[in-house]
Amino acid sequence: MEGRDPVSDEVMSSASRKPHMDSNLQLWTGDYFNEGADDRVFFDKLREECGVFGVWNHPDASSLCYYGLHALQHRGQESGGICTVHRREFHYHRGMGLVKEVFDQPRLEALPGKVGIGHVRYSTAGESKLANAQPLVFKWRDGDLAIATNGNIVNAPDIRRELEEAGSIFQTTSDTEVVAHLIARSKAPSIEEAVKESLRRLNGAFAFVFITNDKMVAARDQHGLRPFVLGRLGDAWLFSSETCAFDAVGAEYVRDVRPGELLVFDADGVREERFAEAAPKRAVCSMEYIYFARPDSDVDEVNIHTARKKMGKRLAMDSFVDADVVTGVPDSSISAAIGFAEQTGIPYELGLIKNRYTGRTFIQPSQELREQGVKMKLSAVRKVVEGKRVVMIDDSIVRGTTSRRIVNLLREAGAVEVHVRITSPPFANPCFYGIDTPTRGELIASSKSVEEIRQLINADSLYFLSKEGLTESIGASGAPADAGFCMACFDNCYPTLSEEEAEKAVAAKC
Ligand code: SF4
Repeated sequence: MEGRDPVSDEVMSSASRKPHMDSNLQLWTGDYFNEGADDRVFFDKLREECGVFGVWNHPDASSLCYYGLHALQHRGQESGGICTVHRREFHYHRGMGLVKEVFDQPRLEALPGKVGIGHVRYSTAGESKLANAQPLVFKWRDGDLAIATNGNIVNAPDIRRELEEAGSIFQTTSDTEVVAHLIARSKAPSIEEAVKESLRRLNGAFAFVFITNDKMVAARDQHGLRPFVLGRLGDAWLFSSETCAFDAVGAEYVRDVRPGELLVFDADGVREERFAEAAPKRAVCSMEYIYFARPDSDVDEVNIHTARKKMGKRLAMDSFVDADVVTGVPDSSISAAIGFAEQTGIPYELGLIKNRYTGRTFIQPSQELREQGVKMKLSAVRKVVEGKRVVMIDDSIVRGTTSRRIVNLLREAGAVEVHVRITSPPFANPCFYGIDTPTRGELIASSKSVEEIRQLINADSLYFLSKEGLTESIGASGAPADAGFCMACFDNCYPTLSEEEAEKAVAAKC
C-alpha cells in the first residue's frame, strides 16, 4: 500500500510507515504542527476531556468523522485525528490544533474507506504533544489497530509499571497505550475477546472505539461515567461522545451505549456483547450536565439545555433574591439563567458577552496575562447592568479567581449589587475520570466556607445548588429509572474507588 512521508505531508498508511517499537506494538509518532497554547488556559475553568466519533459502513467515513469532530470540538481543542480503513489498510492523520486547522480537503481525501474513527483531545493524562494525539495507531500480531478514547484510567500507572517490568516499551505518556499493550499481550483468539480481557483490568471512566483491518469494537465503562451514544445514518452505524455530532451529520440517535457493554461490527453484522456486568449503580458524570456537554446534546436521554434550565429554576426557588436583571456567564450558564429568570419573573439579559473571535494564542499564560485574557474574552454590557442589581449565574467555582474577575467586571460596568448563583454544589475534590482539575488544595471550596468564598469573589450573596437540587434537575428531565450520577468532585465519593484508594489518588495528584 502506498503512503507519504509523515514529515513531508503527514499522511500515513499502515504499510508505508517505518515504526520503531518493541516486539508487541509499533506506534507512529510525528512532528508538531499547529501547536500553540489553547485560549482556555486563560480561564480558571475545568477542561473537558476528549471527544470520540466512529463510523462503520459509510462511503464517506472521513468526512463524517470530520464534521462529527467539529461538533465535538468543545470537548478538546488541543489535537485532532482521524484513522480510516480502506481495503483492509489503514490511513490516518493527526495534528495539533482545532479540527479545521488539522484537516483540509486534500487531507480528508487521503483518508478513504467506509470505516473510520476520529478524536479530539484535551490532555488530561499524558503530555500535550502529537505523539499523544489520537487515534493511536499500532501494529500488532493480527495487523493494524487504532484506538480512540474519552476518559481516564485510574490504575493505568500501575498497569504500565507492570508491563514495563515485563519488557514493554511505551512510546507515549497516554494511558490509552496501556490498553494497546494489554491487547497485544492477550492470548485471546479475537480482537473483541482481547479487548474484553483488557478492559476488565481497568479502573476508571472510558468510552473506547477500536478498529482493526476488518472490525470495529466500541465499549463503555461499567459505571457509564463518560457519555457514549450509538447512531444510524442509512446503512451506517455511528458512535459519538455526544448526540450533537449526530445532528451535525444528519444521523439518528439510536441509544446510549450501556455501561459494561461492548459492540462488535464486522462482515457478519453487529453483535451486542459485554466485557463486564454493569455496576449496580450507574454513575454518569454530573458535570456533563452542568458544564461539559453542549446544550443541544442529550446525555442518557436527558437534554442538557433542559436540565440546566431546571437547575436555574431550582436555584431561584432555593435562593431567591430581589434583583433587576439575571445574566448567565456564557456559554454554559445561559440556559440556567433563562430558567432562573422564568421562575422569578426577573428579566433575563445579556449582561456578559464572550468575544468569540479571539482565537488561540501562542502566549504562555502568566498570572498577569490571565487577568488580561479574561478581559479580552469577556465583557460586561454597561447599558444592561449599570445601576442594576444583578443576579449572575455560573456553572462552578474552581479556584475562585475567574468568579472574582467577572463579579468585578460587572461592578466596573456599574452594577450596584452582584448576587452569584452556582448551578453545582461546591467543587471540593479533584476528578480522576478524565476531567482536568487542579489539586484539592487549589480548589477554593476544599478549604473555604461559602461565606468566605463570597467575600473572596466580592459578591453580595452566593448560593450553590444542592446535590438534591442537582439530581432532581437532571433526573426529572426524563432520565432512565436506573440513572445515577457521579458527584465525586462535590461529595468525595468516587464510584470506582474505595475511600482508601481515593485518598491515595488525591495524595498522588498533590
Ligand atoms: S468527579 Fe466530577 S467531573 Fe469527575 S466524573 Fe465525577 S462528576 Fe464528573
